[in-house]
Amino acid sequence: MSKAAEKADNLIFGVEPYVAGKTEEYMSDNQVAHFRLILNGWKQELSSGLERTRSTMQDETVNHPDPTDRASQETDMSLELRSRDRERKLIKKINESLADIDSGDYGFCENCGVDIGIQRLEARPTATLCVDCKTLDEIRERQKV
Ligand SMILES: [Zn+2]
Repeated sequence: MSKAAEKADNLIFGVEPYVAGKTEEYMSDNQVAHFRLILNGWKQELSSGLERTRSTMQDETVNHPDPTDRASQETDMSLELRSRDRERKLIKKINESLADIDSGDYGFCENCGVDIGIQRLEARPTATLCVDCKTLDEIRERQKV
C-alpha cells in the first residue's frame, strides 16, 4: 500500500489522527480545534446521507402494481426510516458534543471528570464517559434487564 493511501485510511471524517506534543496539555486549543473539525466533518457526512435518503424516498414513491414489489418497497422504506432516525439521533449527539466544546466540557468524563483521552475520542468523538464509567454503565444497563 502506498504511503498516501495508508494515510487516507486512518482519516477520521477527513481529519488526520492527532499527534500530541510531549508537553502538550490535554484539550489544548489545537486539540479542541481538532475535535471540532472531526465532529463537523462527521455531521456533514451524516447530513449528506440524510439528503440522499430524502431524495431516494421521493424517487421511489412510485406505484408498484405488483404486491410483492410493494411489500419489498415498504420494507426498504422502514429500513430507510430507521437509519434516518439513527442518523438524526447521532447528529443530535454531535451537536451536544460541539456545545461541550464551546463550554469547555468536551473530553472530560461527565461522571467522574477524568480525561476521556484523545484516542478514545477519536474512536468515539461523541463519548461523554471515560472507559471505566462506560464499562460500569454497561454493567448496570445489563443488570436492569
Ligand atoms: Zn469517568
